Amino acid sequence: MSTVGNRDYYEILGVSREATPEEIKKAFRRKARQYHPDVAKEDGAEAKFKEINEAYEILGDEQKRAAYDRFGHSAVNGSMGGDPFSGFGGFSDIFDEFFGGGFRTTRRASRHAPRRGQDLQYRLTIDFEEAVFGSDREIEYERTATCRTCGGNGAEPGTNPIRCQRCGGSGEVRSVRQTFLGQMVNITTCPDCNGSGEVVTSPCHECKGHGQIREVRQLRVSVPAGVDQGTQIRISGEGEPGTNGGPPGNLYIVVSVRQHEYFRRRGDDLFIKLRINIAQAALGHTLMVPILTAEGESDHEMIIPAGTQSGEVFVIKGKGVPRLRRDGTHVGYGNLEVMVEVETPRNLTEEQYLLFGQLAETLGDAVIPPANQKGFFDRVIDWLGGE
Ligand SMILES: [Zn+2]
Ligand SMILES: [Zn+2]
Repeated sequence: MSTVGNRDYYEILGVSREATPEEIKKAFRRKARQYHPDVAKEDGAEAKFKEINEAYEILGDEQKRAAYDRFGHSAVNGSMGGDPFSGFGGFSDIFDEFFGGGFRTTRRASRHAPRRGQDLQYRLTIDFEEAVFGSDREIEYERTATCRTCGGNGAEPGTNPIRCQRCGGSGEVRSVRQTFLGQMVNITTCPDCNGSGEVVTSPCHECKGHGQIREVRQLRVSVPAGVDQGTQIRISGEGEPGTNGGPPGNLYIVVSVRQHEYFRRRGDDLFIKLRINIAQAALGHTLMVPILTAEGESDHEMIIPAGTQSGEVFVIKGKGVPRLRRDGTHVGYGNLEVMVEVETPRNLTEEQYLLFGQLAETLGDAVIPPANQKGFFDRVIDWLGGE
């Protein structure tokens, strides 16, 4: 909400709509000086001061002013945020420019605030079967750790950091500036001690005074069954350490899966292509289909009916990948899809040649186009990545 309601910004600053940027700036300075809460004693001065700033926030910016001129308050209110002392970026800039930052302390407290450590990422490549059934893996990675020699304060054991002379241990330095409003005090972080108030005179030999070292971390990671290419596993608290007592970041294991020799996978379903001969396709057959189990590969009996076409797909339910949910639990299994491909025989023996000849006579010579096969083959090619 705007603090000025629908009052005209030009009116607030006491300038005409044709005022130049220089005139607007001058008017703002004059008004701001008059109503600055440190100076003005009259009632409502602070509210007026906010109004003036809000008006200048818009009229002092070429683009915002143009939008305001064309569309009024509705065009610019969205950018105002709520409290003009906290919302938008432009305000503090105006403040610093005219009041030297002394009105509000510009000290950055964040240097001492607890901060969470950074997240780390580790790329783990596993076998196809490990992704399907899960595995335990030992990983090694580098991360930052608190130096054990000095306990993190950066001083050689037996010595102590001394109080910073520049800031007397307060961690901040004050500078006084003269501005048109009078003396302004500016408080900044002490450059000698970086705000800690202490200076190390004999740096720790292990970490050279940084208080932190790089260490190689070893970790046992349990990869749940059903992970897939690109799955991320979060290991809480195993990232970089936090600062000033903040919590550590997380380690994200990004899974990369090696291809299998003949199984393919999409989501929780597995896919395999098997070849049968023309007689098996015509007469029907019992096939032994390889399946994946936690103990390794095994065989599963599957009956294909007489008259099976090349490219036909049979589904073996529940012989796919365990369905991994986001919370790490499992709910059932995907399926195994088996595509049979009928192989046309080559290099016939004389006997086979004669038999096919007899067969040909019984089948006649009509050539039948594979009418319903097109859409299906597109799907298969997609599945197999163009194989
Ligand atoms: Zn150290
Ligand atoms: Zn200092």
